[in-house]
Amino acid sequence: MATWSVVWNNPKLHTPDREKIWVACDEHKQSLSDFLSIRSFLKRVDPIEPT
Ligand SMILES: [Zn+2]
Repeated sequence: MATWSVVWNNPKLHTPDREKIWVACDEHKQSLSDFLSIRSFLKRVDPIEPT
């Protein structure tokens, strides 16, 4: 179940205001966040509200 929006930006490829989004479940949120964080790409992780 996708419950997190992992927001990131690669400054070598994108302008700073550009936001790339990976949708992640609880299980994969941490590894995706770590992957991006190590590269200084991570902007934030937002919860996706159930509709
Ligand atoms: Zn997952």
